[in-house]
Order: sequence, then C-alpha cells, then structure tokens
Amino acid sequence: MKRVAILGAGGMGTALALLFRPAVPEVVLWSRSDEHASAMSESRVNARHLPGIAIPPGIHITSDLPEALPGADLVVAAVPTAYLRSVMQRACGHLAADVPFLSVVKGIENATFERPSQIIVEAAGERPVAVLSGPSHAEEIARGLPASVVVAGRSAALNQLVQETLSHEAFRVYTNPDAVGVELAGALKNILGLAAGICDGLGFGDNAKAAMITRGLVEIRRLGVAMGGQAATFHGLAGFGDLVTTCYSPFGRNRSVGERVGRGEPLEDILAGMVNVAEGVPTTRSVHALASKIGVEMPITAELHAVLFEGKAPREAVYDLMVRLPKG
Ligand code: 13P
Repeated sequence: MKRVAILGAGGMGTALALLFRPAVPEVVLWSRSDEHASAMSESRVNARHLPGIAIPPGIHITSDLPEALPGADLVVAAVPTAYLRSVMQRACGHLAADVPFLSVVKGIENATFERPSQIIVEAAGERPVAVLSGPSHAEEIARGLPASVVVAGRSAALNQLVQETLSHEAFRVYTNPDAVGVELAGALKNILGLAAGICDGLGFGDNAKAAMITRGLVEIRRLGVAMGGQAATFHGLAGFGDLVTTCYSPFGRNRSVGERVGRGEPLEDILAGMVNVAEGVPTTRSVHALASKIGVEMPITAELHAVLFEGKAPREAVYDLMVRLPKG
C-alpha cells in the first residue's frame, strides 16, 4: 500500500493517520473545513479533536478532495454518519473505480436505516469495503496505548491487507467475515453508552449499570441477528468489547452526553456545546424506528428514545424498565 486517503479529521481519522503512517509512504488526512485543515497544517496538532498529539510531517493535511483522493490505494471513511452521504457524493468524482474503502463510522442513517458501508457503495459504486470496529478511543490509540480491534468485510483479501498494514505491538487487529454484525455492533453500542451515562447521571451504582449493559447487549444482539449479523459477533470486540469502553469511559462522548441528560440538562443544550458528535443520539432515532418497523423488541432503546426525544423523565424511564414483566 503506497497511499492512503483519510476522509475526516476528527479524533479517529487523525489517530488512523498516525497508525497508517509507519507502513504507508503517503498518508493524506482530509478535513471538510478549510479553517481546520489550515490550522492543523500550521500547528501540526489537531487541537480541536486530539490535543497534545503531534502529527508527523509525513502526513499531508488538506481540505481539497481532488488533492486527497487520486492515486489512493485505500480510502478511509471517518466522518460522522450524518455527513457521510454528502461527503461521498463530493468524493466520488475523484475516486478510481475500484479503490477499496475502510469505514470506521459507527452509526445508522436516519432516513434510510443504512449502514455506513452501504452508503459508501451506494454513493461510489460497488467496490470492496471493510469496516474497522471495537474498543478504540482515538485519544488512547494516538498515544500508543494498547488496543485490539476487528476488521470485517466480504473481501478476505482486503481484511487481511488492513490487518497486515495496521498491526503492531500496541495495535492488535483480528478479522471477522461477519461484516453486517461487526458494523451493527459498533453502531448499536453507542445507544447503550448513552443509557450507561444516564445511570451515572442519576447517581446509580455498579449493579444498575451492569444490568443495563447485560440486558442492553441482549437487545442489540436481537436486532443485529434480525438484520443478518451473527449472534457471536456481539460478544466479541465490536460488541461486548466496545460496550465496556463506551459505557465506562470518563471521556466517552456518548456516556458523557447520557450523564448530563441524567442530571437533567436539555439534550439540545448539550449537543449545541459539543465539538464532537455523539453518534448514539441519531442512532437511537434510527434504531427505535427500525426496531418498531421490523417488530424487534428493544425496551431499553425505546425508553432512551422517550427520554431523548419525547420529554420523558429519565427516572420514570428507569422505573418503567424495572417494573416490566420479566420474560424469564
Ligand atoms: P464514545 O466516545 O462514545 O465512547 O465512542 C467512541 C468509540 O466508539 C470507541 O470505540
């Protein structure tokens, strides 16, 4: 692999540029914002999303897609789900017909219920797409702290190429043929990250959070299997592994938003003050609507939806979950 283009200069896009750089001679990091790209080029730091981490000179930063994409052997999608389709529409005129993609986007589109890999193929045409998921906070990867992730896609050759290129002593990469399960697990765990934060914001203890995570895993697995994923995938790095990271991290975006909701702050105020995107918020909308449409029971997601978007008090939502008749 000679050239990798990364679409999205958030924390994860920037951390991936650092991860690819030792093995790949040309790494290009693209930002949607001219201002952000110029600031990063000048300071060699992503002050907005990854403060304190030096971006080495070998990583080229631009906001120009015709400069970023031609000649790439691999394109990485690292933009929030809500922007992915428009970024892909702008990008597709500058892409070679068969260039493979790696997606690290963890969401489900509101209007279509599509996964990021489906959006990529729909916008840019049929091509190999792999997804990388698992417990992978950018702040830790960028500091060289150990992490293990999973790469999944229909092309075993692409999965293996990504595994070989990214693996090193602090970054362990597994592969999994269950692309649907891995991609869904990565998106669905964000819903439970918000719910875990609400438990924290309400002042609950370890027992409540452990119960929420365990029962939450059952319901996201139920949806994942109904959508074609493998149940076992939800117990691996992309499911259980990422749930642990997301639900217990002091700086996790979804958990932090949930904590503030649990303390009674209005969601709009919380989101308005954030530079990062908490993917779980739009994903809760998508998943609640999708689960209702296909008849999959997701009680925690339904209560979270009521808290986030229907004005229900978090304590009342917890009460309703606690007094539900257990099915077992
Ligand atoms: P949070 O920031 O909500 O923890 O999500 C990041 C992530 O997906 C880590 O794997």
